[in-house]
Amino acid sequence: MGKDLKISPEHGLNPSVMACPVCGKDTGVALCGYMRGDKKSPVKMLDLDPCKDCREELDRHALHGFVIVLLDDAYTEGSFWPWFKTYVVVKREAARRILSEGFGMHEETVDEHIKRGKILMPFKVGVKIGLVQ
Ligand SMILES: [Zn+2]
Repeated sequence: MGKDLKISPEHGLNPSVMACPVCGKDTGVALCGYMRGDKKSPVKMLDLDPCKDCREELDRHALHGFVIVLLDDAYTEGSFWPWFKTYVVVKREAARRILSEGFGMHEETVDEHIKRGKILMPFKVGVKIGLVQ
C-alpha cells in the first residue's frame, strides 16, 4: 500500500484483515485509514498474494505449467469475501494463447504473467474461455 496513509477522523487507522485468495486464511492486516465518505473498512479484504502455504502449492504447479486460480463469481474488486473455487494448470504456450487471444492482453503484460506463473480470474471468465464448465 502507499505510504501516505490518511488517518480517518472516525475510524483512525481503519484496519482490515487481509485474507489469502486461495484458502481464506488471514495473511496480515491492511491499514485503510481514510476511505471515501469516511467509511469503516471491511472486516476482511482480499490479499492479492496467496499465503505462504498456498504460494508453495501454486509454485510447485507453476514449475510444470501456468496456474490459473479461479475465484468465486461473487468476487468483485474490493469486496469483503472473494472466494477461491478451483485452479487449473495449463501449459505455458496455452497460457500465452489464452492471455493474448482470450483477453487481448499486450505482449509485455502476457510476458509478465507468464514469468509470475499464475493469474487470478473470476470463475465465470474461466467458463467463458472454455477452461472449466
Ligand atoms: Zn492460502
